[in-house]
Amino acid sequence: MNQEPYVEVRLIQYHYNKDYGDTRVCECGHSYVRHFDPYESMENVGCKYCACDHFKETVTSMILEEKDYDSGLLSDYGGGDVKWWHDYLRNVIHDCNTYWRELIDSYTEK
Ligand SMILES: [Zn+2]
Ligand SMILES: [Zn+2]
Repeated sequence: MNQEPYVEVRLIQYHYNKDYGDTRVCECGHSYVRHFDPYESMENVGCKYCACDHFKETVTSMILEEKDYDSGLLSDYGGGDVKWWHDYLRNVIHDCNTYWRELIDSYTEK
């Protein structure tokens, strides 16, 4: 018989992370901070409002943590040409939409 003298057991503990973001939303529909007990030094007690015992952030919540679109420096070439400004704004809006679409796609393709 080739047996080890001990059976090794390693315990994994999940503790509250104050820097994570209390308002992030779990797939159970409740916020991160609600998965811990503030009266027991933020012990990991599972969700207070349902049977969920392990926080897993929703895709929507993750996307909302992303930075907003940054257009960079805006141009002023248009001067008093309203039609130029209309085209310019359409382009900025288009770039902003593309930014968010690609970001959302990057989450849903996982
Ligand atoms: Zn939960
Ligand atoms: Zn819950």
